[in-house]
Amino acid sequence: MSETIFTKIINREIPAEIIFENDQVLAFKDINPQAPVHFLVIPKKAIATINDIQAEDAEIVGQLYIAAAQIAKEQGFAENGYRAVMNCNMDGGQTVYHIHLHVLAGKPMGWPPYQDTLKQPLP
Ligand code: 5GP
Repeated sequence: MSETIFTKIINREIPAEIIFENDQVLAFKDINPQAPVHFLVIPKKAIATINDIQAEDAEIVGQLYIAAAQIAKEQGFAENGYRAVMNCNMDGGQTVYHIHLHVLAGKPMGWPPYQDTLKQPLP
C-alpha cells in the first residue's frame, strides 16, 4: 500500500502530539479534534482499511483497544466513558488509509451517528 501521513508520524518525519507508544502501536492527538478529548491509536504496521485486516493481525488490532483503555484510565475518563470507533472506506468516513481507532471523550456522544444525514428510513 502507498504510504500515508501516519507513516510519516510513526517515523517522526512530521510532528504530532504523541501520547503513547509501544512496539506495536502509537497514539497521538487528532489534529482536528471533534470532542474535548480526541486521539488516534494506530498500528505501526500499515494496514489500509478494516477490510485489509488479516488473521495474523488479530494481536495488533487487539493492542489498539488495550492501548485506548490504558490511556483512558491514565487520563481519567475511563469510568465516564468514551467512543472508540474505526471508519472504513467512503461511507464510513475514512480519509486516511492506515487504520486508526478514534478515541473521543469528555462529553456525551450522540447516537446514532448518522442521525443528521440519514435520508431514507432503515428497512
Ligand atoms: P478518518 O477520517 O480517516 O477516520 O480519520 C482521519 C483523522 O486523522 C481525522 O480525524 C484527521 O483530523 C486526522 N488527521 C489527518 N491528518 C493528520 C495529521 O497530520 N496529524 C494528526 N495529528 N491528525 C491528522
